[in-house]
Amino acid sequence: MSLVRKFIVSLLRLKDIFVVNSELKIRDKALHLWVRPYKTGCRCPFCERRCTILHICSSPRIWRDLPLCGWSVLLWYNPKEILCPTHGRIQERIPWADPYARITYRFEYALLVYCQMMTQKAASRLLHIPTSTLSDLLHQSIMRLRDGHRIRGLTSIGVDEISYCKGHKYATIVYDLDRSCVLWVGQGKGRDTIDLFFQESLSPYQRDQILWASCDMSEAYMGAIEEHCRNVTLVLDRFHIVKAINAALDEVRKEQWREASDQERKILKGLRWLLFKHSSTRSKKDSRILHALRKGNRRIYKAWLLKDEFEQFWDFKAPWAAERFLKRWTTAALRTRLEPMRKLVNTIRKHSTQIISFVESRLTNAVAEGLNRIIKIIKNRASGFRTLDAFTDMIFLTVGDVDIPAQIPAKFRAL
Ligand SMILES: [Zn+2]
Repeated sequence: MSLVRKFIVSLLRLKDIFVVNSELKIRDKALHLWVRPYKTGCRCPFCERRCTILHICSSPRIWRDLPLCGWSVLLWYNPKEILCPTHGRIQERIPWADPYARITYRFEYALLVYCQMMTQKAASRLLHIPTSTLSDLLHQSIMRLRDGHRIRGLTSIGVDEISYCKGHKYATIVYDLDRSCVLWVGQGKGRDTIDLFFQESLSPYQRDQILWASCDMSEAYMGAIEEHCRNVTLVLDRFHIVKAINAALDEVRKEQWREASDQERKILKGLRWLLFKHSSTRSKKDSRILHALRKGNRRIYKAWLLKDEFEQFWDFKAPWAAERFLKRWTTAALRTRLEPMRKLVNTIRKHSTQIISFVESRLTNAVAEGLNRIIKIIKNRASGFRTLDAFTDMIFLTVGDVDIPAQIPAKFRAL
């Protein structure tokens, strides 16, 4: 073996592969290697049984391997057709790639890891393939590697919706809150979509095993969860309650702004984000401005005070104390005689059991919200997805319940 070929073999880590011939295509910047497996005896790709060889395929197959210093690497081989007692006439198992795959395991691993870290466009540049080919390959890989996966040991779930395709379309996402990962993605939002999850992905036994569920205040999700899971305690998501309180506060601010004179508007200017700030992130100057509202605009001040007081709720350890606080808080909120606050109190009273069960369970969609943030980053990084399939692929690859790159055989997991 010439020194150059030895070098190529060790550089490409072609341990199980014997390089028969090689050719450099300078103009295409491609290295073509004619190879064959080291081990003799052909095995069935599905049952690993050693089978009789029928003949050698006349047309060679080509596999794309990891590019090397800007050069594409392609492996050529004429696979043998074999006869498996179980699977019939079939092509032999290829040690460097999955049956039917057009890329080697090593390339597949790089593809998955790169796509976890960067945009598909960047990954396609690194791997020397067009972006459309990359997303096709990625979809095939993820479908194959997730195939046959079953949900196990699920006790706490979170349900949320997310928009994709520039906010025109919605998808429903189901999270495993114990393991903090995404279990399921479904097209659309609302009752029909979430019903599909319970029917398709969980057995009746698994549905009974779910003890805690967290979601927003939509009737669709709450109704579906209560109907499908008999032993569940619904917990209203902390994030969504805070959002509802902030929305009511903003409503008060907007009303006051509309009614205010030019002189009064000076006080209200730039208040919007200040009002939403959590007490832990407020500076001294922020607090001074907010307390000045007491004289500047009493209505906004009252609404803000209520919002600020509600922060205490999340610290309660005993359900009875939380319940007492909630009663006092709602009474105080009604006393302000502000219409948005009255509406908020109605919502909170309607869902008070689910809000108080937060104290008992300490379950919060913070996990889900954290994952949601990662999903939004993926979405923005790709500047939106046109199809749900492409979006789902990226969700499962980054925050899914299966570590997809780890499904590739260990000896090929090196970059
Ligand atoms: Zn077989």
